[in-house]
Amino acid sequence: MNGLDVPRIRSHFDFPAAGRVVTNNAASTQPPRELVELFRRLAPWYENVHRGQSAASRRTTAMFEASYDTIAAWLNAPSRRSVTMFRNTTEAINAVMYSLLTEFRDGDNVVSTLLEHNSNYVPWHGLCREILPRLGRRVELRLARFDADGRLDLDHLASLVDERTKLVCCTGASNFFGSKPDLAKVREIADAGGYPQPTGERRALLLVDAAQLAPTSALDVRALDVDYLAFSFHKMLAPFGVGVLYAKEHLLDHAMPFLYGGDMIAEGRVTAESVAWNDLPWKFTAGTPNILGTIVSAQALRLLVDLVLPTSFFGGAGPLPRVAVEEVMARIGRHTADLTARCMAGLRSNSHLVTYGPERRTPLVAFNIEGLSPFAVAEALDRRGVEARAGCHCATLAHQALGLDPPASCRLSFALYNTVEDVDRAVEAVREIAGGYSAISDLARLRG
Ligand code: PMP
Repeated sequence: MNGLDVPRIRSHFDFPAAGRVVTNNAASTQPPRELVELFRRLAPWYENVHRGQSAASRRTTAMFEASYDTIAAWLNAPSRRSVTMFRNTTEAINAVMYSLLTEFRDGDNVVSTLLEHNSNYVPWHGLCREILPRLGRRVELRLARFDADGRLDLDHLASLVDERTKLVCCTGASNFFGSKPDLAKVREIADAGGYPQPTGERRALLLVDAAQLAPTSALDVRALDVDYLAFSFHKMLAPFGVGVLYAKEHLLDHAMPFLYGGDMIAEGRVTAESVAWNDLPWKFTAGTPNILGTIVSAQALRLLVDLVLPTSFFGGAGPLPRVAVEEVMARIGRHTADLTARCMAGLRSNSHLVTYGPERRTPLVAFNIEGLSPFAVAEALDRRGVEARAGCHCATLAHQALGLDPPASCRLSFALYNTVEDVDRAVEAVREIAGGYSAISDLARLRG
């Protein structure tokens, strides 16, 4: 089989038995049974990490550390030293922001885009318009536009980058339009910026918010040559609570920690006068980390491979083979792209409905039905058993740029376990809702 065995995949989840049409996967995906049970399987060995000499503590520490290897290999990062766990993408991006506080001088700038989720806009707004001004430094925040189809305007982006650009922050995939900026081109554009590199040259740092890209694409941080990349595991089958930040090792070596406390310091190297930081990646792990969440998140990646290919990586340790990661994500990408195309075709057959974004997209479709509140549409969908999300999806700038009032839309989004029937049920439900509305509005028009 070259695609996905969706019935087999679905047999690992509990939600189908509840009769749910889960089409809000861009918010969070469902957890497979094995991951829920993993918490119980770990219980006999429940212990803290790096804080005990018991066999249980050593075992938990080994599993926790091996999780970093799995996650690093997933991203094709050189080693676990360049991956750090946070609560989510948002916290990871904030960590980058705080670690760079001392790097900005008067007259520098940060370039981002109007496509960003608030997680990759508000921290830079906070830095440039709140924190640095209070420290007496003026640093400009510049935002690149998108075109009529919600694709990043690369020419505009390039026009914003100059030798004082220290950082370019860009989404890997918009959670509203679904558009996917060409990250190779964004890298080239960021190269015109001016952050000093270890080699002596200057180019801007590039941060990619991969929260919507990671669930359907194989990410290769070295091929992309990104400086920072973040995503959340709760959009990739794992439970809530863990996000990863990849960063180039030299940046992490140089960076100020963002949280200070226990375990992020070198063992015994604290005096009343000085403190030495722990080795990477633990330099950024202050306090007791989300141990179970990290182990389960890494196992979610291993299980993802097993769900798609006939392999048995789940429960093991060590890096995942690159070819397996690429094959798995290619198949998930194709399956979810087919579902998305079917959904768009179905929705667009409705004349009272507008969809946003380009043809080539990550698997989500945001839309509005003329004259109807997207919140009312999502509630009406829910009454028909179809789960959707209404609101601005934290892509407030993009909704405002389109002049949507209120700045909101309704969104359907797909994952590897969705079926053609899910899409058809969702499209049919939308058709009913829009049809009901247009019958009423036609009647009203006839009545004058
Ligand atoms: N960026 C994008 C593009 C997203 O879609 C999301 C989640 N909606 C985030 C960032 C934030 O993720 P989290 O809430 O896990 O921090």
